Amino acid sequence: MFVYWRTPVRVHVETERCQGHGVCVVTAPALFEFQDDGKAVAAARELAPADLDGARAAEASCPELAIVIEGKLSAARES
Ligand code: SF4
Repeated sequence: MFVYWRTPVRVHVETERCQGHGVCVVTAPALFEFQDDGKAVAAARELAPADLDGARAAEASCPELAIVIEGKLSAARES
């Protein structure tokens, strides 16, 4: 028998990697915006299930690999 649990899912931008291309802002405008310094910042909230596709698309599209999604659905076998 497996037990499933979901940890809070959040997305963030590693600002030291971000080069301000803006792919994330175009791909998922509800989740990313530009800061005054031209780098992107992600929404500071737990993602809703409806946000995940956008977050994943932005993560996959970022040419600097600056987008990190934390948290996930996990499973473990219960004895
Ligand atoms: S796509 Fe990546 S490098 Fe470009 S602004 Fe977004 S986080 Fe920064």
